[in-house]
Amino acid sequence: MTKFEDSRLLALNAESGFLDNGMRAALLGALEDDERACASYSVSAHIWVEAVLTDRALLFVKGAVRARAVRVPLPVDVVREPSGSKSGARVRTPFGEKTLWGSKLDPNMTMLLGLRGPAPDMEKPRGNPGAAQAPCIADPRPVISSSGPNLVESGGTEDRRRLSWRERLSRRWRAGRKPRKPRLQKAQPESVGQAPNPTIWDVAYDCIKCGRPLTNPDSQRHRVGTECIQRYGSQARMIRNPAYSAWENDKARAEIDRIARQVELDSAYSKELATYDAALAVWNAAREDRA
Ligand SMILES: [Zn+2]
Repeated sequence: MTKFEDSRLLALNAESGFLDNGMRAALLGALEDDERACASYSVSAHIWVEAVLTDRALLFVKGAVRARAVRVPLPVDVVREPSGSKSGARVRTPFGEKTLWGSKLDPNMTMLLGLRGPAPDMEKPRGNPGAAQAPCIADPRPVISSSGPNLVESGGTEDRRRLSWRERLSRRWRAGRKPRKPRLQKAQPESVGQAPNPTIWDVAYDCIKCGRPLTNPDSQRHRVGTECIQRYGSQARMIRNPAYSAWENDKARAEIDRIARQVELDSAYSKELATYDAALAVWNAAREDRA
């Protein structure tokens, strides 16, 4: 079975490692576009760690479950060359000293040793800060040992050091009050009072059957006189209340007014919000002393 189809990793098909899918995927993910693998090694006695030597780095691939790769740029920091019964080379990595061994393509470790840095004695003092640095997984090319980036980093930590209470207090005082977050106002509709009854009794002041004037309120409601009510029965009826129609008109107008006011409030709110965001950024900057 061919382990690697990718042209960058074809050399590793001659090696015995990388039988695990997850580790192969992690290695593939860590590889740069034009990077080429040269050999792979077992790492100390770790079963689930393998190292791949490429044309520009040592890639340590760790773990079967959630495998990940850690890139250690060249040159190789060799602590101890293979000698006597010890066929492996001891190298310094961001996660401690490890013995690399067991490569079929580089059985005598000549390829690996050929990529070592200057003399080991010279390498040790500036190798140490690199070893202390955590392996960088997000950055594909971490700078392990170089004085430039270290200086920048120490400057960065200087800025982020914990402030004294006096400094914090003075920054708070200079920043002033925290801007108040605006709240969206809700327009209230104008009050139009209680709704009147939608219907009322139709009142007649003359009998609708014989035309005689009606004075009794009951007769006016039944719209017929006392004689006609016996012949024709009650003619009472409900009609639509004109006051109710007027109330409905008032209510509709109040709602239109409310919507218009809400539109104004919304636009005022969005302006306030923009002002607030800007003020908050200034305030935050002042607190963090970036202003
Ligand atoms: Zn009548």
